Amino acid sequence: MAVEIGELRSLLDGRWAGIRDEVRAQIAASPLLRPVHGLPVEEHRARVLEQARMVSQTRSARLFFPREFGGEGDMGGALSAFETIALVDLSLLVKIGVQYGLFGGVIRRLGTRRHHERYLRQAMTMELPGCFAMTETGHGSDVQSIRTTATYDAQRQEFVIHTPDDDARKDYIGNVARDGRLAAVFAQLITGGEWRGVHVLLVPIRDERGRPCPNVRIEDCGHKGGLNGVDNGRLWFNQVRVPREALLDRFGSVAPDGTYTSPIANETRRFFTMLGTLVSGRVSVAGAGLSAAKLALAIAIRYGSTRRQFRAPGRDEEVIVLDYLQHQRRLLPALATTYALHFAQEALVVALHDAGDGDSPDDAEQRRLETQAAGLKAISTWHSTQTIQTCREACGGAGYLSVNRLTELRADTDIFTTFEGDNTVLLQLVAKGLLTNFRDEFGSMDTVAMVRYVADQVVSAVLERTAARSLGQLIADAIPRREEESNILDREYHAYLFAWREKHVLEAAARRLRKLMANNGDAFSAFNAVQDHLLLAARAHVERVVLEHFTAAIDRCEEGEVKSLLNKVCDLHVMASLERDRGWFMEHGQLSAARAKALITNVNRLCRELRPHAQQLIDAFGIPDVLLPVS
Ligand SMILES: Cc1cc2nc3c(=O)[nH]c(=O)nc-3n(C[C@H](O)[C@H](O)[C@H](O)COP(=O)(O)OP(=O)(O)OC[C@H]3O[C@@H](n4cnc5c(N)ncnc54)[C@H](O)[C@@H]3O)c2cc1C
Repeated sequence: MAVEIGELRSLLDGRWAGIRDEVRAQIAASPLLRPVHGLPVEEHRARVLEQARMVSQTRSARLFFPREFGGEGDMGGALSAFETIALVDLSLLVKIGVQYGLFGGVIRRLGTRRHHERYLRQAMTMELPGCFAMTETGHGSDVQSIRTTATYDAQRQEFVIHTPDDDARKDYIGNVARDGRLAAVFAQLITGGEWRGVHVLLVPIRDERGRPCPNVRIEDCGHKGGLNGVDNGRLWFNQVRVPREALLDRFGSVAPDGTYTSPIANETRRFFTMLGTLVSGRVSVAGAGLSAAKLALAIAIRYGSTRRQFRAPGRDEEVIVLDYLQHQRRLLPALATTYALHFAQEALVVALHDAGDGDSPDDAEQRRLETQAAGLKAISTWHSTQTIQTCREACGGAGYLSVNRLTELRADTDIFTTFEGDNTVLLQLVAKGLLTNFRDEFGSMDTVAMVRYVADQVVSAVLERTAARSLGQLIADAIPRREEESNILDREYHAYLFAWREKHVLEAAARRLRKLMANNGDAFSAFNAVQDHLLLAARAHVERVVLEHFTAAIDRCEEGEVKSLLNKVCDLHVMASLERDRGWFMEHGQLSAARAKALITNVNRLCRELRPHAQQLIDAFGIPDVLLPVS
């Protein structure tokens, strides 16, 4: 099978192929964008700042910002550019992610005209380095419980920002320790003596010469387990005064006399709406994690294709390690799943772009996007950390040398599973969306309300209203469905198995919740008791959606070598994930012992058949040569 790499690459590059190529060319042409390793922290931070300033002069920065402020208003393009930049140094990706995506993004999404006019251009050019100060030492995942306060003083028409104690200090905040001048601070808004929930205010933390502002205390988080080119720090505010206009007031405003108004009456809904508009950050982290996995696979497969160990009897040469079945089994299923996740990521970027940059006026569409972004972020970043570790081991001792990049990729991506939303917490969000089928009430429900909602209905109504209903249709459509009637490689059979698992787990979780809530059960305890089930449902959902996107991408291909190669890659992705979960499918009567064993044989066969194409499959990622270690 002779595959045309260009055709495969353009399929992977997708709608924003031109932008990806533009960034690749910039990387190839610029010595500043070469990977380096082992720099002392301050040198690394300085280099990353210089790189970020360079990026800020390019289209990659402009794409993210609206046209009327000098940008190009192309969210899909921006996310594709960020994915490519991630290959250089993940510290650089995170630095610009904080500056454009979080700081610029929060001003754009939660601010109004005056904030846009005053700050967006400067955020884009990095004249005004900014921070996104949400997390506190005491509260990370539970943002609604943060304790920094913003109390309105009607007499002076100012907000007073205050950190009540060390637990409420802002922690881990990117751009704080060294470069940031203005922080978007998440705080509990208090006006007229009433608490109005979490809002965001722009608070200066350093003057133009880089000195901390009065009553702002700044501390460096110090050396981290990775991403040391980013200056993470802590912030305390001691009765710091900012003008009334500092409040980003799209979803809640305070009149000069202190009267509070909001277009969204329900506080929980307002909070989730505010956070929901920042969805692009999660998509960006998922994309960067996948870029790191691609890079690691490229390094390990290239190395495995030349590295030789042990001589087979009767052969003159030692065996190339990638010719060992077990080596193929470690790398090729991970490569296949990376392809699957790539197509799911690309589909999400397209959906986000087409739905008004992730700020869709259609509530249901917005909730679906947020849920897909949360689920894909969790599954992709977990996949990345596992894949990078596997690649490190697959390169033996060479994999442990910093020059070969794998140890740094592993260290840098480790935290991707935690920031921009902890993966476990994100999957709970996905489960909540599935159980309520993204209904209108969903946005207003906290966990306890969601449990009550599910429990308050008779089981059939719950199932009718959950995503399980449409899954039922999906399952019905996937014919042939029974094992004895279907070929193990039949894509409809795969679709059936993935949808059946999701439906079954979701229904079982809903039933358990209802049972636990019968006779006035306690909603929180009920939720806690089925957490494992909810997380499984979320994972099953994401895996089903990922398979659908991979299948759709293959369907878009013209008949030919590329299509048949991708079909094989998809087969391996499915066979390997069914092999991993075969215990569950057997327990639930969906796989016979014979078929479970056949999965193993098929993974082995597909690894053998894809081995000759491994190099082509990684070449199609289009990673610039200058970013790969010299072999
Ligand atoms: C390098 C780095 C950069 C960062 N940059 C920023 C930034 O620029 N701005 C910013 O605001 N924040 C930033 N953060 C903070 C980051 O977003 C938080 O660390 C993250 O949200 C998790 O919060 P936490 O650390 O308090 O963990 P916790 O929320 O305390 O979680 C600890 C553990 O408890 C588990 N857990 C929590 N709740 C539940 C539950 N309901 N059910 C089951 N398990 C649960 C989690 O899965 C996790 O394993 C950064 C963090 C790091 C390390």
